[in-house]
Amino acid sequence: MEWIHCNNCFGLPDSEKNFYLTSCGHIYCQDCEEQCARTQCKLCGNQCSTIVLSSTLKPDVQMYFTDPDELLKKKLKEVHQVSDFQKNHRARLWAHQKKQFISLKPILIFISYIKHVIKVPCRINSEIIMSCSAKQNYV
Ligand SMILES: [Zn+2]
Ligand SMILES: [Zn+2]
Repeated sequence: MEWIHCNNCFGLPDSEKNFYLTSCGHIYCQDCEEQCARTQCKLCGNQCSTIVLSSTLKPDVQMYFTDPDELLKKKLKEVHQVSDFQKNHRARLWAHQKKQFISLKPILIFISYIKHVIKVPCRINSEIIMSCSAKQNYV
């Protein structure tokens, strides 16, 4: 991580000395940590505590030292997992609803037939009435 540097002396990390992260989000080398971050951060003036930068940082801190591309890939994988999870449940529900619709289809056809049967006598009645009134006109 070529961007990590001491916020006081601008020294870069090497295998010889530790680097520290303050609770206020600043980084100091081992030489500067004692004078710049033991109780109060020299850079921002906040009361602070420090942790040594190592491979055993907590995940919420480690995230800030992860390559953004790797972080994006990881988050994208999580988004795909959530999407697949929801897609599978949605497909299961749709399959069930389709099955229900197929089982209801004969009933829907029957209802449609009944509606047709009800309309036919109405049409016949209106034709009879029209026919009668036409005959009355001839008389
Ligand atoms: Zn330093
Ligand atoms: Zn600070």
